Amino acid sequence: ATEREVLNIVVVGHVDHGKSTVIGRLLYDTHSLPEGAIERVKRIAKEKGKPFEYAYLLDAFEEEQKQGITIDTTQLQFRTEERDYVIIDAPGHKEFLKNMISGAASAEAALLIIDANEGIQEQSKRHGYILSLLGIQKAYVLINKMDLIDYSEAKFNEIKREMNEFLHNLHVFPLKYIPISAFYGENMIAPSAKMPWYKGEPILKAIDLFEKDTGLETKPLRFPIQDVYKFDNRRIVAGRIETGTLKAGDQILISPSNKLTKVKTIEYWAERDKRDSVSAGMSVGITVEDEFFNQRGEFIVHPGQAAITADTFKANIFWMGKAELVKGKEYKLKLATQEVECEISSIVKVIDATTLETIENAALVKTNDVAEVVIRAKKQLCFDEFRNNQLTGRFVIVDGYDVSGGGIVSGVVKELQTVS
Ligand code: GDP
Repeated sequence: ATEREVLNIVVVGHVDHGKSTVIGRLLYDTHSLPEGAIERVKRIAKEKGKPFEYAYLLDAFEEEQKQGITIDTTQLQFRTEERDYVIIDAPGHKEFLKNMISGAASAEAALLIIDANEGIQEQSKRHGYILSLLGIQKAYVLINKMDLIDYSEAKFNEIKREMNEFLHNLHVFPLKYIPISAFYGENMIAPSAKMPWYKGEPILKAIDLFEKDTGLETKPLRFPIQDVYKFDNRRIVAGRIETGTLKAGDQILISPSNKLTKVKTIEYWAERDKRDSVSAGMSVGITVEDEFFNQRGEFIVHPGQAAITADTFKANIFWMGKAELVKGKEYKLKLATQEVECEISSIVKVIDATTLETIENAALVKTNDVAEVVIRAKKQLCFDEFRNNQLTGRFVIVDGYDVSGGGIVSGVVKELQTVS
């Protein structure tokens, strides 16, 4: 059998706009709920004297999870004829941004939900901004609770126009706007008879049209070293290939230590076999010809296609720390497998994520603010500009023990010359 394609999606939106209901419905409509789940939730609702809610399905999952049974709410799955979907985070999870920014979870596409009756809220805009910051360009806006506005095309168009204007300024171009009623199941799996004016696809058809990014294996090689093991008297350099392809016999450059060598063997552990070529997304171990003392954090690349090596760079960051981000304080920066001490050497601009208004030369960055900054690390590190490579162009900032912010590299200040 051929392997089914998997797409990771994330559902975002202002609280109460209907994220849980949309997810509950999607799981229900695709028959992805565990046996008896819906009956159980209906029974509980009845016992509590409340009407049944699809949103309760997720609460029930959380409950089961607490009791150590079955489902992981951060990994809800459903399938269509086309492919499998993983909803990478359940609504309301505070960890979401942290996971996204740190790369622990990676959404490939997003559904942004707006309550038709409430209209666009600050948080809807902030979520739009964050999607752009995370480089998620594949997004649909779901305008939910259409039942509350009598399925009005005019109101739908009004929200669409306003959101479109905001998102276009961010260079996020939502591919579609879909009017839905998650609660009543309108435009979920089948076109809604209540909204004949809508000519597009219902959600389940529309998501199958998200095109999965391919071609990571043809980008320049980025193989950040995770660990170096000693095994049978051989030193095995291990890590995950973020982008590109690596072959046995390849000439490679290890930076920032700036050493040239050759790949001797490739060990592809996941399949316990030997192969000559490995590529993006694979966790592998390799042996090299020269016995350098390489360490965690360094990048293995091809000469002539090196990453940037520098200690100072420009970045756009999103701050969510408990304390404000200030200049001159010591933070830890994590980028791919590198961890270095750093400081903010200048705050160029602070951007209000909701209004997109900017303050030049601010003294600090407050929680939930977005800012353009210059970061200076205590030593040289390897990275790419985000527009060239999303995987090696993003980082997180740790304040004490907390992941407190994240960002993307927007430019380099002073680059180190490499042998290539
Ligand atoms: P979340 O906080 O974004 O996850 O929102 P929920 O999914 O929990 O929904 C919040 C409330 O809105 C619940 O009471 C839902 O029943 C209700 N709701 C969700 N979708 C719809 C809809 O399409 N129509 C109506 N009338 N109510 C809805």
